[in-house]
Amino acid sequence: MTQQPMPRGTTSGTPTSSAAGTRLDPWLGSYAERTHGMRSSEIRALFAVANRPEVVSLAGGMPFLDGLPLDVLSDVAARVVAERGLQALQYGSGQGDQALREQILDVMALEGIEAHPDDVVVTTGSQQALDLVTRVFVDPGDVVVAEAPSYVGALGVFRAYQADVVHVPLDEHGLVPEALEETLGALAAAGRRVKLLYTVPNFHNPAGVSMTPERRPRILEIARRYGVLVLEDNPYGLLGFDREPWPALRSLDDDGVVYLGSFSKTFAPGYRVGWAVAPHAVREKLVLASESAILCPSNAAQISISTYLATCDWRGQIKSYRELYRERRDAMISALTEHLPDATWNVPDGGFYTWVRLPAGLDAKDMLPRAVTARVAYVPGTAFYYDGAGADHMRLSYCYPTPERIREGVRRLAGVVAGEREL
Ligand code: PMP
Repeated sequence: MTQQPMPRGTTSGTPTSSAAGTRLDPWLGSYAERTHGMRSSEIRALFAVANRPEVVSLAGGMPFLDGLPLDVLSDVAARVVAERGLQALQYGSGQGDQALREQILDVMALEGIEAHPDDVVVTTGSQQALDLVTRVFVDPGDVVVAEAPSYVGALGVFRAYQADVVHVPLDEHGLVPEALEETLGALAAAGRRVKLLYTVPNFHNPAGVSMTPERRPRILEIARRYGVLVLEDNPYGLLGFDREPWPALRSLDDDGVVYLGSFSKTFAPGYRVGWAVAPHAVREKLVLASESAILCPSNAAQISISTYLATCDWRGQIKSYRELYRERRDAMISALTEHLPDATWNVPDGGFYTWVRLPAGLDAKDMLPRAVTARVAYVPGTAFYYDGAGADHMRLSYCYPTPERIREGVRRLAGVVAGEREL
């Protein structure tokens, strides 16, 4: 008897439960377990609309690049190809370009980090570093402890590796040490394996707050006591408005922290260059994981950034970004004060985001379609929680629109909020 091929869209010969699903995707029965956690954002469709020019988008975290010296950068691009083209267009080291890794030390020194170039692994944005660290440490069912709320892109990675995320509250001083202690104690008592403590200590995405210098050693001490590796994600640390950067967690602890940095917010995300700094043995694993994913980061991008750092005033560029974003933060806060006095929010002293709590009874996710119709977009708070909490919050970003557009966006938002109350 000839064996019949198994129909597509079945698992072990069992037809899939959804006939429509089978029609839409003939491979439905073949996907790996881990893909069940990979969710497309429910709000993606709305964002396609939000990107229309008539909509004021307070949703995305896109840096404002118009201030970049494009003439200088086109000279850099020409030099990279003319002078180092054969290297720039070739495969490179899995760990990343040696000269760039040395320059990254100068960037990190601004936050008190002392490291060796061998400690650095260059990645395709810090997003890839999040993926690598999770791949190296997390088995399905392991716990990742993360702030409540947490960066949506990190939650997506944790979900993809089937981690169980347990949130710990933040307040205006960052992650709350007592709550961390209590959560880790309870997880230990329940016999759970906690692999990572994920934190964005500076100008948090989405909460806008920073972990105070007093709290940093306490958080490290608690994590160390419970044997939990700290994953310090720091793309915004150099973008403070009124103060110099606070010492990185990694500057206080060499072997209990994996630090992630990025050129996306301080320079330009299109190069897709970020990095991880990790204890020696961990770094070896990250390089192996990265080689299996991408062989090596882009030499063309790394050499472009390395040339930029060597020949341009990158510190001046960061200073001008800080001034630009401070002006936009001011526009956001004054517009909120004027138009949404019943909401509450924090005043971020750096970074891109304000975290707004709506007047009682309003649901930001529910309201989003009406906001988009009123030509303003934001990210509902639910995106930043593993468990769907946060509906009474929204993230408003002030990085991309001009101050006038920010004011107009908040004015439109206030109109939507007023309309909700009448519903
Ligand atoms: N971490 C945080 C907290 C972020 O906000 C972002 C970008 N929005 C990333 C990581 C990823 O940045 P990139 O991959 O561009 O370096």
